[in-house]
Amino acid sequence: MADEDDGRHEIATRRDSVVIIGGGFAGLHAAKALKRVDVDVYLIDRRNFHLFQPLLYQVATAGLGAEDIAAPLRMVLRGHDNVKTVLGEVEDIDRDRRIVFFDTGKLRYDYLIVAAGMETSYYGNDDWEKLAPGLKTLDDALECRRRILKMFERAEWTDDPELTRGLLTFVVVGAGPTGVEMAGAISEIAHRVMVREFRNIDASKARVILADAEQRVLSAYHEETSERALKDLEEMDVEVRLDQMVQKITAEGVQIGDDFIPAHTVIWAAGVKASPVAEALDTKLDRMGRAIVEPELTLPQDDRVYVIGDLAHFEEDGQVLPGLAPVANQQGKHAARNIRLRLIGEKPRPFKYKDKGQMATLGRASAVAEIWGYRFAGMFAWVLWLFVHLMYLVGFRNRVVVLLNWAYAYIGMRRSGRLILGGPEIPQEEAIPDRALIDVETPIEKVGLIEESEPASGTGGE
Ligand SMILES: Cc1cc2nc3c(=O)[nH]c(=O)nc-3n(C[C@H](O)[C@H](O)[C@H](O)COP(=O)(O)OP(=O)(O)OC[C@H]3O[C@@H](n4cnc5c(N)ncnc54)[C@H](O)[C@@H]3O)c2cc1C
Repeated sequence: MADEDDGRHEIATRRDSVVIIGGGFAGLHAAKALKRVDVDVYLIDRRNFHLFQPLLYQVATAGLGAEDIAAPLRMVLRGHDNVKTVLGEVEDIDRDRRIVFFDTGKLRYDYLIVAAGMETSYYGNDDWEKLAPGLKTLDDALECRRRILKMFERAEWTDDPELTRGLLTFVVVGAGPTGVEMAGAISEIAHRVMVREFRNIDASKARVILADAEQRVLSAYHEETSERALKDLEEMDVEVRLDQMVQKITAEGVQIGDDFIPAHTVIWAAGVKASPVAEALDTKLDRMGRAIVEPELTLPQDDRVYVIGDLAHFEEDGQVLPGLAPVANQQGKHAARNIRLRLIGEKPRPFKYKDKGQMATLGRASAVAEIWGYRFAGMFAWVLWLFVHLMYLVGFRNRVVVLLNWAYAYIGMRRSGRLILGGPEIPQEEAIPDRALIDVETPIEKVGLIEESEPASGTGGE
């Protein structure tokens, strides 16, 4: 527990203060909904931007740029005079003294809203993190993009067919919505975009494998939806391996069931766990580390602390609500409303989720959606998906840019965001033996990369 006299700067408050931890969907909606309430609102986030996570896979596969799906919190909240944003990482919470401690200061609260979300979980296999990035943050998405693009480049200049196969094999672990979307998008970029631009490799031979220990893809959806998604993925040449555990990930490949698959790119979309901020609350947590909350979204025996969004374990009709953006949005608004009710002396109300359904896109003009008990697939579901995602991007300066980028990518078969930027060393790259590198003095047709007999013009040394 951090000490009150630890030398941290304390931010002075004058009226009742609401401290919100996390500027994701839940925290941001809470802050906005407190606009006309007579309180000082402090929104703390370790990032200075709000991130639209549902489109992370588009950044990871070069369909959109980082700025297209993120917006500075200060900019989003500039019309909210009672909200102050704080860039800081929350480290501890003292509920007895009502203080939040973060890396650069501390804040007293009258009401606390905790919306710190989830993070990637490797289920105890923490050494897999370096080998298989997750897809939870913008840094993750940029790292996935760097790895995918880099392996194509390495394959282009490799003279070893076996190594080329490993470089052009992409394994996505986890066949939930994130994994399904990611596998579909990698297949698309390999088979439709790269295939036109690489000279020495046949990118259409790139192998995309989607693996899951469950018996079907999108296991949280209706069985028919899963079947349709599986069919569409297979039509897109995604190799789906179900009912098989990933047992090992190394720099050389992945052990799925009995098979070891040489693969230099592995993306982890298989699990999440609660942000450690939940532990700092010193309350009852579920198996995933989420805080178990009351119907009003408060902690048991502490009606000044709300936990909302992905970090909350909220049961409705005997079911825990899933980690979805509409749940987070609605809970954010509801927590703000309950605080307003408390301030005017009224009783807070229980939260009731208005189910907006769920959807996942599989690729070009292909998606599945379950809305109000109806199931849709194909082009119609994809248009719906497009509409909903653009609608939720409202407030972002670049909504039009996103639409144009999509049009460019989908109609023109181009991906403009294909920049390989710096980052940590990729362990799989280190495992590539030197002999695989082409000597620039050697004309490339001599190293057997090109199957056709015509010479490659303008490349290689003389
Ligand atoms: C790849 C992906 C695709 C998704 N697709 C969909 C979809 O299609 N449809 C859908 O409905 N849902 C989707 N989701 C789920 C949806 O994004 C989440 O349900 C939603 O983001 C939850 O909102 P939240 O505010 O609870 O948490 P988050 O949005 O995760 O926000 C948490 C915030 O807390 C901050 N934070 C965390 N720890 C600290 C700390 N210690 N100190 C300060 N700040 C901290 C983080 O920086 C972050 O800004 C997807 C999620 C992912 C990862």
